[in-house]
Formats: sequence, structure tokens, C-alpha cells
Amino acid sequence: MGLAPEFCILNPETFSSLRARREKKIIGDKLEEQTLLEDVFLFMPDGSTQRGAIAFSPSEIIALGDKNAVREKAGKNLRIISLSGALVLPGFVDAHTHLLAGALQLIRVDLRAVKSRDEFSKKIYAWVKDNPTLPWVLGQWSDILLGGELPHRGWVDAASQGKPLFLTRFDMHSAVANARAMEIAGIGKNTPDPSGGRIVRDPRTGEPTGLLLEKAMSLVADKIPSLTDSQKVQLLKNAFQHAHRVGLTAVHDVFFQSKWEDLNIYRTALESEEAGLRVHLRVSLKDLDRLLAALKEPLPGRLIMDGVKGFIDGTLGSTTAWLEEPYAHNPRERGIPCIDDPKEFREGVRWAAAAGVTVSLHAIGDAAIGFAQEIYRECIQQGLGKAPLRIEHFQHPGEKHIAAMNHPRLFASVQPAHLLDDASVAEERLGPRRAALSYPIKSLLDRGCRVIFGSDWDVADLNPLVGLQAAVTRVDKANRFPGGWHPEQRIGIAQAIDAYTSTAATATRIPRRAGKLTEGMEANLTVLDRDITTMPADHITKAKVIMTAVGGRVVYDGR
Ligand SMILES: [Zn+2]
Repeated sequence: MGLAPEFCILNPETFSSLRARREKKIIGDKLEEQTLLEDVFLFMPDGSTQRGAIAFSPSEIIALGDKNAVREKAGKNLRIISLSGALVLPGFVDAHTHLLAGALQLIRVDLRAVKSRDEFSKKIYAWVKDNPTLPWVLGQWSDILLGGELPHRGWVDAASQGKPLFLTRFDMHSAVANARAMEIAGIGKNTPDPSGGRIVRDPRTGEPTGLLLEKAMSLVADKIPSLTDSQKVQLLKNAFQHAHRVGLTAVHDVFFQSKWEDLNIYRTALESEEAGLRVHLRVSLKDLDRLLAALKEPLPGRLIMDGVKGFIDGTLGSTTAWLEEPYAHNPRERGIPCIDDPKEFREGVRWAAAAGVTVSLHAIGDAAIGFAQEIYRECIQQGLGKAPLRIEHFQHPGEKHIAAMNHPRLFASVQPAHLLDDASVAEERLGPRRAALSYPIKSLLDRGCRVIFGSDWDVADLNPLVGLQAAVTRVDKANRFPGGWHPEQRIGIAQAIDAYTSTAATATRIPRRAGKLTEGMEANLTVLDRDITTMPADHITKAKVIMTAVGGRVVYDGR
């Protein structure tokens, strides 16, 4: 396919233009704030940790190393902060999030880990007290730890304190509503079951218990007011704060789950403050034209319209990951590619690559990974663009797929926290040979391939420390593999930090001078209260983020 030259206009911003901007800032604003952190450990680009100090301004990292030398070089106008024993890392970059979905979760009550009826009610009561302005009590529950007992309105009526309540089971196939919500929905003793759903009733009285199955859930769900744009903006800002609290300086956000119109929500939320989380947005592959048009418009400095994302397959848990050979537990099943028209899909990816935007393809099974690599190989061989070509998840490849990732444009975007849930499922569904290559992070790194880490929030915890610990220990949640699930794929903490910081910072259309602690780099920093590189690996998540800085400005101070 011949490509018109206008599709090559989106060249990454060059380092020299960034430098020019920085110099202008220093000349024009001599009194810009400078910060010096001393008595800290510094995570160096070679993966070692050094004791010393670091000074930075909104323009760059001014100096780091020996405390006295740093003080001298930094000069006056310094805010000096002593952080005895803290660890300064290049800022965490989450390479795979869904911010708006996560933002919604922040205003919902999470009852998935609740172990008793009493705890269930108490948590709702406390949540209502903590969130007086929210009109509905929404959230999720699981009965797995409740010993199979199902919640009903008797658990929630008093605790919800007069507010309507609607809580879905984690699998979204049933929900519990309280008396107020059922009143709003008009559900009573004589309400018939809707087709495809059931209103569970007390066998003695015939009164609805509050439990609604399948389509009966919509009776209440349809009555929940949708959020206004300004509420969504506020939620997104809350999500930025949450991200700063867990040490994130940037995220690679996948936007396709939201509506394209929600771009304005991002725009408004991101332009309200100059300093803060940087959001590299990826939109659906189908929206490539809209993305290219949006790139010509002025955008807030914190918003980077980065690229597109496409789906090749589903997930292992739902047997929709696309495999080369049948599933071990079901020999008739190989999963399904979720591509309507492979030819059109391939063309779409090629156009996106040629247009200079980042391409991210969701591929979990080995067949899906192989298909993504085939298209990417063509893009590289034919010189279509220069931006990163990423495989999201990269969970269950074969040996040949691991080897094929060794190219500077290719990135395996892995969410190590998912392996904590997946270990048992993978053994059962893939069998031992294929399961042994699941999440092959060490094999990839040993071959010099680029690995970047992310959380997949809201599906998993946003906290990067959870992902770091998962990559270093590989101990699953069910503790079926206490010594680590395929421990030969464990990596060192320095390698894990690199995947969540320096390398992740490069997997974007516009690589900034950021991601490493060296002079002249942009000061995106995450400061932990302790040195996680020297403590037992299963204690990593015990560390606390005490400071987050983006572009040299402290955006979170949790000391
Ligand atoms: Zn995701």
C-alpha cells in the first residue's frame, strides 16, 4: 500500500526543541522554585542505589550525588527537605490504565473482600458517612469469602441510611438493591419477573428480598442517574490525586472504553492545573481519523494524544484468548480472535503506524501474539513510521514469540499483578508446557526485549508496588505456588523498577527527556519511605510513597 507523505507529519517532538523551551524558561524566570532532597538513596540508571542528594527545578534535575556538591551546584532559592532513608526513583509510569473507569470505582464501595454479614453492613454504613454528597450507594460484592451466603436487603437497608443502594456481584450477573432503590424502581410484591431475569422473593411472604438476577437488575440500574460532565471531570481529577498518592507521574491510558465525547472530560480535567499527572491517551483503532484531527488542535500540556489500541483476542479466564493449539481443559476450544475482518484490521494498523502514532494491540494467547507480530514485522520492514509498536498483556506466548520481540520498536506491555490471579487458571487451561511460558518477563529481558509494566486499573490495583512485588516474587494470591509460580521467570527489583519507570517512559510517541535520574532530565520523581531494593521481596508493598513530583513540581507530599 502506497502511503501519502502527509501521513508522515507526526514526527515525535525532538529533544532539541524541548531543550530550547527549557532554556527559555530558565532565562525568563530566574526565581523558579528549586527543591533539594537530601539524606536519600538514589536509584541510578545502572540499577544501583547510591546515598546522597538530588536537586531539581521545574526545568530539570540540576544535580545529584554527594550532598555538598549538590548544594553547591544548585545555588540559592532552594527548598531543602531531609528525607532520612527514603528512596528516590525516576517517576513511576503506568503503561496500561483505564483512568475514567478507575475514577468511577473510587466513588463506589468495594465489598469484594468482605468476609461476614456484619462486615458487609458496617462497610456500607461507614462509606455512606464518608460520602455524604453522593446520592446513590453503588459498588460490588463477592460471596466467595462469605461462605456462599448471599446478601439481601436485610443486610443493607439500615446501613444505607435512607439512600438508594445498588450493589452488583463481581461477575455482573446479579445484584442486591435496598428498599429505597426498589421503591424508586417500582419493584413490589406484585411486580412480575422481567423476561430473562428474576426478582428473588421470600418464600413465606412473597416480598422481594432485594436480590435481582440477570435482566431484573436493569429495573433498578436504569433508574440510576448518569453522571454529568462536570461530575466526571471531578472524578477524573480525584483519579489524578489517587495516582499521585501511589507515586505515578504519568499513565498510558486506554480511552476506547469511554465514548469519544469523553475526550472533553479529559481535556477539561487536565487543563485545570498546569502541574500533575501526564496522560498519554490511546483511542480505539477505529478512531484513527479522529485522533489525527485532534492532534492538529491545541491540547493541554498534560494530555498527549498518543496512539491507537486494537483487540485481537479475549482473556484466558473466559476461554477467549486465541491459542495456536486447543485449550488443555477443553480440546474443542482454541479461543476466538475478536477481529471482524483481518484484512481491514491489518490495513488499519499499517495506517496508524505510518501516521506516526503508537500502536497497541491486545494479545493474550500465543496465536493472537503471533498475529500482532506478523503485522508489526511488516510495518518495520516497510519502514511505516517510527513510533512504538506494543503488544498489550503478552501473557501466553511461545518461545518463538518471545524471541521475535527483540526489536527497538517492539514493547511487551505486561501487567505483573494479573499473574497473581492467573496462575491456577493458566495451569489448568494451558497445561504445564504452555503455562511455563506465561508472563515470561525474565526470558524477554534476557533476550534484550523491551518490557514495560502497568496495572490495568480498574481491573487490578493501580499501586505500582503491587506489580513490582508480583514480578519479583510471582507468589499468587491463592498461594498455590508459595515459592513463586514458575520462579525461573522472576526478575530482580532493579529490572522491575526499570520496567515501571525508564522503559515505560519511552513507550510513547513523544519520548521526553525523562525516566532516569541524571542531570538535565525532567524531574519526574517518586519517593518511597524506604529502600525497596534491599529489603525482602515480599515486603515491597509495605513501602509508602511519601512524595511525587512531576516536571519538578511536588504534586503529592505524604510525609
Ligand atoms: Zn486494560
